[in-house]
Amino acid sequence: MPEIVGNAQLRADLQTMRRGNHLPHALLLHGERGCGKKLLAKWFAMLVLCEHPEQAPCGQCRACRLVQEDAHPDVMWAEHSGKRMGFTVDTVREIRREAAVLPNNGEMRVFLFADADGMSIQAQNALLKSVEEPPAHSCFVFTTETVGALLPTLLSRMTAKAVFPVSEGECVAALTRLSYPADDVQAAVSRFGGNIGRCIAYLSDEMQRKAAETAAALTAALAQVDEYTLLQLLTAAAADKDLLRRTLELLDMQIRDAAVFSLNGEFRRLGCDRAAAEALSARLSPRRAMRMHGAITEAFADLESNVGAVLTATALCAALSAQ
Ligand SMILES: [Zn+2]
Repeated sequence: MPEIVGNAQLRADLQTMRRGNHLPHALLLHGERGCGKKLLAKWFAMLVLCEHPEQAPCGQCRACRLVQEDAHPDVMWAEHSGKRMGFTVDTVREIRREAAVLPNNGEMRVFLFADADGMSIQAQNALLKSVEEPPAHSCFVFTTETVGALLPTLLSRMTAKAVFPVSEGECVAALTRLSYPADDVQAAVSRFGGNIGRCIAYLSDEMQRKAAETAAALTAALAQVDEYTLLQLLTAAAADKDLLRRTLELLDMQIRDAAVFSLNGEFRRLGCDRAAAEALSARLSPRRAMRMHGAITEAFADLESNVGAVLTATALCAALSAQ
């Protein structure tokens, strides 16, 4: 049984629905990256297929175990493909065909579309009918970062549930149970709060850790108008395109956090350094934040179209420094 931490109300609601035999036929789990949506989607598949409705998901029965091992014949994850790693119309058609077929083992078939943010409009339209009038034995689960990622027509036919990061205490406990050293756990949680997925990425992936440290230092350099350090950090990250991409992804979130803070005086952080984001917010008009976000988006496009990483980093430094 995968350990699920937090989101207790969400799970209790779905379990009540299961006992009452009225689970949604289409479920959207939305929330920031790393907060456990895919794990919850799998948990939901267990809930649907578990052989003991009263205790579902029991984690013990054959159905639960097969889902857990990604081996249940009635659970199917839609395959990502293409440049944006979305779902093609062909993939959707295949799932539609599958959805019409009766279950192999149990009473239901579960189709999962993880990270559906990049799903094309055509693919969403192709899914519409299946989600609107699903075969009685099929249900669909989607995960996205935002509710707005899906077309309103598709969204209106599903039950949407928000997934949240857990408390920092719960996160520390969960990471400690995974046997990470206490000091590292503290460092991860101070960067990413109760977002367990992001903490694990930080703890288990050297490059992700480097990206987080660099993005935090870049935010501080921007707050101090230290162009020299900014350029040094960006060119160092440009030694590896992937590192630069990851760093910029986090820097973009730092700028988002700073912008939200300057508007509201509070924020639920998405970035990796709350204090640096707060410091930057003093220098950030909404217009400048938008310009910085635009400059980062442009840098991503340059990297995509094979502009050299160092050149991209230098141009970005100039754009970010412009007041
Ligand atoms: Zn079970």
